[in-house]
Parts: sequence; C-alpha cells; structure tokens
Amino acid sequence: EQQRRKRPDWLRVKLPIGPEYAKVRKLVDEHKLHTICESGNCPNMGECWGAGTATFMILGNICTRSCTFCAVATGRPTEYDTDEPRRVAEAIVLMKVKHAVLTSVNRDELKDKGAEIWYQTVRLIKEASPATTIETLIPDTKGNWEALERMISAGQEVVSHNMETVERLYRRVRPQARYERSLEQIRRTKAYGQRTKSGIMLGLGETYDEVAKAMDDLAANGLDILTLGQYLQPTKMHHEVIEWIHPEIFAKYREEGLMRGLKYVESGPLVRSSYHAEKHVNV
Ligand code: SF4
Ligand code: SF4
Repeated sequence: EQQRRKRPDWLRVKLPIGPEYAKVRKLVDEHKLHTICESGNCPNMGECWGAGTATFMILGNICTRSCTFCAVATGRPTEYDTDEPRRVAEAIVLMKVKHAVLTSVNRDELKDKGAEIWYQTVRLIKEASPATTIETLIPDTKGNWEALERMISAGQEVVSHNMETVERLYRRVRPQARYERSLEQIRRTKAYGQRTKSGIMLGLGETYDEVAKAMDDLAANGLDILTLGQYLQPTKMHHEVIEWIHPEIFAKYREEGLMRGLKYVESGPLVRSSYHAEKHVNV
C-alpha cells in the first residue's frame, strides 16, 4: 500500500530555474495575476515560462462544478468582470507571452456560459499582441452551441476541450459532465473549422482498452491533438491516484493515438494539457 502511494522516480519535479523564469515570476507577482501554472503547482513551470508559455484562468476562481480531481473551489461564482479581458491582454504584453493558454472555471449559471468574456479576451490579446498565439481550453457549454460558436470564433489558433478520463469513470470524476456531450462539442468545434485538442489524465483506474476506445471516439469526432499525462492528487480530499503509469505505457499510447489518425500526441508522466502547447499551433 505504502509502495503504491509513493511517487515513482520519473515524476520527480523539475526545478523551475533560469533567468526567463525569474523575470516572469516577478511580473506575475507584481501584477497579482492568476496562472494555473502556479495554482496547480505545475512541475513544468521553469520550462514553460522559460519558453514564453503561460496558462491564465479567467471568469473567476469559483466553479459551479465539482470534478473530483480538481483543486478549484466549488460554489456559486460571484465574479463577472467585464474589464478582465483587458487586464489579461495587458498582462500578456507585460509578460511577453509568446503563447497564451486560456482556461476558465465552468459558469453553468450564466446564460452564455461565459462566452462573451471568452470572446473579448481572445480579441483583446490579438489586438494588443498580434504575434502571441492563443490556445483556449474551454469548458463544456452544456449543449449551448451558440455559446460554443461565440467562444471559439475570436481568432484563437487552438481550441481544446479536455475529456479528462474514459467514459466509465465520468460519474466519479466529472459528475456534471457527459462523455457524449463533450465528444459532440469537439465534433462541432472541428466543423467550425478549428484546430481541436483534448486531454486525458491517466492513473484514475482506467484500463488500457478504455483509453484506446476513448482515442477511437476522439479520432472519429475530428480531434487533431491529444495530451496524455499522469494524474496527481492535489489534496487528500481529491480522487486517489489508482495507478502510476509507466513511461513505456505512455509511449505505447502515443503509438496507438497516431495509428488512429490523430495528428499529434503528447504522452508522458509529466504532460499537462498545456505542456509544449506552443508546438500545437502548427499541427
Ligand atoms: Fe503552466 Fe501548463 Fe506549463 Fe504547467 S504545463 S507550467 S500549467 S503552461
Ligand atoms: Fe475544475 Fe473545470 Fe471541473 Fe470546474 S469544471 S471543477 S474548474 S475541472
């Protein structure tokens, strides 16, 4: 049991070092910005920030949902800040971000699911810093396809929506989400002419065949880019790590994904959905 809990060697955290990292760190602190890199205590911060990639969370930090792997607080969100798009754009200029990943909590209580803030944020970043490429890691719009269209049509290069896990585990892992609905969202995103991306966390108790099936479904629904990484438990209150997936298995999954026609598969223990994200704009 003890053995199972212990992190294997290949998950040792890489130290965030380097002059670029220090510079970005200072700006983030000074401007009181929220990055997922920091709040998620991501092991790749040194590498990503050094490469000019950072992940920002918009639309507040309270989520209407309660995914069992996620460290974001669940509750009734109060924040709706129409000035947020401008501040994020300004931060991106100050931080000299070359590739911005934007994500948000779920705002199921809003009629437009936050689509307008999403749209304006992307638009203002492109206006303030035309060379910055943008990936939007969007929530599930609960079947509001009008909101989806608004959310993804501001000129971003990549539109992600994470499946997070295999179909069987949705009830435990993403209780308010639906596997089929997320697949449909990806299919529609592709139909709007966007570059599509998704991510799955491994180690939540899924089987090899279930992951392969998820890849079949994603390929059939027009997915371009897939990330596969090891799930890490944010606190003891969250979903347990059921298994440490070996790097060789990650490599096999990558082959499986490419065989199914996915254009790009990033697969490894430390892979996060925004890891190496700057490479995905040309896929
Ligand atoms: Fe930030 Fe994502 Fe890189 Fe982690 S992988 S440091 S969350 S951009
Ligand atoms: Fe976390 Fe997103 Fe789930 Fe909200 S919807 S609990 S932010 S993973």
